[in-house]
Amino acid sequence: MSNPAADRPLRLAIIGAGPAGVYAADILTKAEREFEVSIDLFDRYPTPYGLIRYGVAPDHPRIKGIVKALHKVLDRGDIRFLGNVNYGQDITLADIRDMYDAVIFATGAIQDADLNIPGMELDGAYGAADFVSWYDGHPDVPRTWPLNARQIAVIGNGNVALDVARMLSKHPEDLLVTEIPDNVHAGLAASPVTDVHIFGRRGPAQVKFTPLELRELSHSKDVDIVLYPEDFEFDAASDETIKTNNQAKTMVNTLTNWLIEQEDREEAEEAGTRTPASRRLHLHFLHAPVEITGNNGAVEGIRFERQELDGTGNVRGTGDIVDYDVQAVYRAIGYFGSELAEVGFDPNRGVIPNEGGRVLHDDGEKISGLYATGWIKRGPVGLIGSTKGDALETIGNLLEDRLELPAAIHPDEQAIIELLAEREVAYTTWEGWVALDAHEHALGEAAGTVETSRGPVSRERVKVVERDEMVRISQQQ
Ligand code: NAP
Repeated sequence: MSNPAADRPLRLAIIGAGPAGVYAADILTKAEREFEVSIDLFDRYPTPYGLIRYGVAPDHPRIKGIVKALHKVLDRGDIRFLGNVNYGQDITLADIRDMYDAVIFATGAIQDADLNIPGMELDGAYGAADFVSWYDGHPDVPRTWPLNARQIAVIGNGNVALDVARMLSKHPEDLLVTEIPDNVHAGLAASPVTDVHIFGRRGPAQVKFTPLELRELSHSKDVDIVLYPEDFEFDAASDETIKTNNQAKTMVNTLTNWLIEQEDREEAEEAGTRTPASRRLHLHFLHAPVEITGNNGAVEGIRFERQELDGTGNVRGTGDIVDYDVQAVYRAIGYFGSELAEVGFDPNRGVIPNEGGRVLHDDGEKISGLYATGWIKRGPVGLIGSTKGDALETIGNLLEDRLELPAAIHPDEQAIIELLAEREVAYTTWEGWVALDAHEHALGEAAGTVETSRGPVSRERVKVVERDEMVRISQQQ
């Protein structure tokens, strides 16, 4: 092992240009240090922003602020973006070792965790992450999604369950103000859905939702939220959580307020002064999934065992079985990371084995020059901003290791460009993204004003979905 040459910048590759990768690059660029750095930020998509472009629901209110902040970082010009480059296929670990002193893996987690109950193989049983990829216009998934169910179950009480249930129940014209691709709007517009049911296995005080995301549910026009009073039982541990944890308190307050509003709504409907909404979004608690039932290979129902709180905030089965008629089931029970070529993988946690972001061998020894950050480092938990803390730790450790990093043999910034050209990799650049971004905005403008239930709105952007088209527009700049 030798020190990276002191008279040249530290060469760093970051694999993954989502929030985790961009935060790591930004933190290193701004860190106090006595040497220069030169960073290449790779992504397998032709575009930057990873999960923000391909994982966050298009109607999410915080998205714009985050995109703005990430844009500002990459627009400074001191971090080079190289998109449409697939690690493990277009470039290998040996290439990286040859041209960089260190690499940070920031590839996130985009697969659905498995739900091991009978019936998952039926037509109509889906992973939430796959549906998210579809509605976010992911370039590598089919353009159509089967939306023929009138009643739908969504399993899980996290923010992904909220996103998916909201997207499934919202009237599609109200999504036109967002950047949803045209094929997604057309697919949702043809959906006959009337009822979407979200099922949590624990109680209202144990949900993994966050307050803003929960409240967003009630913003959909002509969609009634339906709750069940029998689900609102609290054990001692729940009472304590509500008392001591502000987030849990806010969440339980929101839900109980909805329960009160629901009673008022029902009274108004009985009195004939209110018309029920045409769609309903049901929130059920204390329901553990047991089996998805089918007919002729297709989902026709879902079976749960009712749960009760056991005093500690956990639950135990009551033995009572309940069935619901549904024609589709989406599991939103967490994401899972994907294994990367030539890097270790923990199959239980779906992460790269690491200590503080330093990648480890099977025997627990550190692998010099290899780092991880974000969800592939610690698992798919936390809001986007929490990956900043991860990046700080990983970058801190990288800076500490600086003098022991294995020096690149070809640290010249041009080396990777020549390699990609030689391998005919149609890579994209930051300037290319700026061009594609402008193109998508122009498509939005050209679409003009659209009618929604809140009146006419203009479309801000229309996403380009096909990979080749994205590359073509990016390379035209
Ligand atoms: P999550 O927050 O970990 O929630 C997973 C949910 O699935 C939990 O309610 C969990 O219940 C339940 N679950 C797990 N295994 C289950 C099983 N076998 N049967 C029934 N239920 C099961 O995961 P996520 O919703 O995928 O979100 C991942 C991260 O992304 C979170 O940090 C989330 O906040 C973030 N995110 C944020 C936004 C946003 O808009 N801000 C949007 C999407 C995602 P238990 O609690 O009982 O285990």
